[in-house]
Amino acid sequence: MWIVKQIVSRTPGSGWRGFFLIGCVTILALLLAGTSWSAWQSSEGRAAAEDRQYHTIEVLLATNTVRAAALQQVRGGRGYLLTGNRLFLKPYTLGKREAETAQARLVALVGNHDEQPARVEALDTHLAHLDVVLGSMIDSMAKDETRAALTIMRSGSDRDAIEAILRTLDAIDATERAALDTQTAIAQQRAIANERYQYLLATVGLCLLALSILATIYVRRALDAEHAARKELEHFALTDPLTSLPNRRAFMEAATQHIVQSQADPKRKLSLAVVDIDHFKRINDRFGHPAGDEVIKEVGQRAIAALRKHDFVGRIGGEEYGVILPRADLDTACTVCERLREAIAGSPIVRNDAIIPFTASIGIAEFRADDDIDHLLARADAALYEAKTGGRNQVRLAA
Ligand code: GH3
Ligand code: MG
Ligand code: MG
Repeated sequence: MWIVKQIVSRTPGSGWRGFFLIGCVTILALLLAGTSWSAWQSSEGRAAAEDRQYHTIEVLLATNTVRAAALQQVRGGRGYLLTGNRLFLKPYTLGKREAETAQARLVALVGNHDEQPARVEALDTHLAHLDVVLGSMIDSMAKDETRAALTIMRSGSDRDAIEAILRTLDAIDATERAALDTQTAIAQQRAIANERYQYLLATVGLCLLALSILATIYVRRALDAEHAARKELEHFALTDPLTSLPNRRAFMEAATQHIVQSQADPKRKLSLAVVDIDHFKRINDRFGHPAGDEVIKEVGQRAIAALRKHDFVGRIGGEEYGVILPRADLDTACTVCERLREAIAGSPIVRNDAIIPFTASIGIAEFRADDDIDHLLARADAALYEAKTGGRNQVRLAA
């Protein structure tokens, strides 16, 4: 739970993104665990099938040996009985020994396996019986009691014994083969299940990848929209809606920055001007408020056109503008502001057949080492006041 809370709280944006991330990771982890388990099961099944295969081959080899040895025993015994040649006793003896060895091997191989031990025990009995029958035939022959030996042979006891042995061996083989088939089928099933798990993992992985890409795109877009909205808000917060010029706040921030730079480097001159439209109240009264607005906009545009590229103009009051003149001493500032004054007064606005003449007064102050923004502005305002009282439509410099 602690981990979930950490992931959710550290994921930027709303909580669902955190839960989505946790969900994806959990699904992937479960699938990986499932796939590992299935792969392990599959390899176990394969190993068991291989073990069973080796075991079956060994059992089949042993049963074949018993089969061949028992038949050799019978052939040797009967050969001796029919020909009286003692050479036939050799395969008989060899077959008997091999049957015993292979039988012992069978006991070790199938000792703990289902119904096989009972069969091996029965096989042992049948082999012993064959021994007894063949042994008594050979004994009779050795004592020249051929008639007795033939009687035993005709009774078919050795044939019955060998048939019982072969039947038992067949049953042992069949059981081993069936066990091998079962084990192989289990291994195949596990391999198929494992393959399906791998496909599932790949499919879900691809789906999660696609979802992650979509989520990333979605988050990216949301962040971009958020960024754009913030930029727009910042723009609105710093822009005057009527003139689209920087507003008073933006102007004060820019002026403060310039002052800091000039304070750091005294050679860096800085002047600040305040521009105020003359008798603006009269314009409003005579031509109406919308016409007054138009004059305010027009003065802003003329200011931008008349000022230098690196000068900064903002609307700092109703019909009042602030101008930052970087790298300008009083003389330069005076020249630039005269140009501005002339541009403003130069031509009236013609609106609805009405001709609206207007002028502006300008006060300039040059930055001094002990100035702050308020003091600098107050000195420029004082110069503006002089321009107003001195007759308006003029530029005055602060002392
Ligand atoms: P002075 O020459 O001494 O500056 O005279 P003035 O009439 O321009 O001075 P004052 O500051 O007394 O008047 C400014 C007027 O500007 C007052 C106000 O109604 C008007 N005003 C302020 N903001 C706006 C605006 O956004 N649009 C319009 N149309 N008028 C505005
Ligand atoms: Mg005015
Ligand atoms: Mg004013």
